Amino acid sequence: MDFKSFIRDVADFPKEGIVFKDITPLLKNPDALNNACDTLAGFLEGKQVDKVIGVDSRGFIFAPMLASKLGAGFVPVRKKGKLPYATEAASYDLEYGTDTLEIHVDAIEKGEKVLIHDDVLATGGTAAAVCELVKRLGGEIVQCNFLIHLSFLQGESKLNHVPVKSLIKY
Ligand code: IMP
Repeated sequence: MDFKSFIRDVADFPKEGIVFKDITPLLKNPDALNNACDTLAGFLEGKQVDKVIGVDSRGFIFAPMLASKLGAGFVPVRKKGKLPYATEAASYDLEYGTDTLEIHVDAIEKGEKVLIHDDVLATGGTAAAVCELVKRLGGEIVQCNFLIHLSFLQGESKLNHVPVKSLIKY
């Protein structure tokens, strides 16, 4: 399937100069939605996955569907202050300032196999912070997968050779 045809470029969102990749045309099309989910799950064929992490907030769309398909549990990684129980936290640099992501301390058991999912891999700061959280809890990262990989931003280089897969590459 030509997944690229379901991605809409939105100029100057969320601020001037940024071309935002909008995935909502893909989400609203039943065939594209189903196909995208099957393809992302197919990247894990033959691999054991115990937990699928979805990253706040667009990572929450596919991660639970992937978890269900892979026979794994779903774990949310959220922006600071959103999770109710005790958390582990990791900060990462933004263009201006920093941001912090959190995970519940009991979300992953030592040695569990973890898939990290988000909608877009851009500079890699977000995914690198999530990898750091998984490692601190003793999880083993099987793969990071994304709908969209903006490869010209070289985010993959921040992920320490963790396997990276995506539906669409620009
Ligand atoms: P990174 O930390 O620079 O790799 O940015 C990845 C994060 O920013 C992900 O959580 C994405 O949801 C978000 N993001 C960055 N660029 C886009 C985009 O063009 N469309 C949708 N989300 C984006």
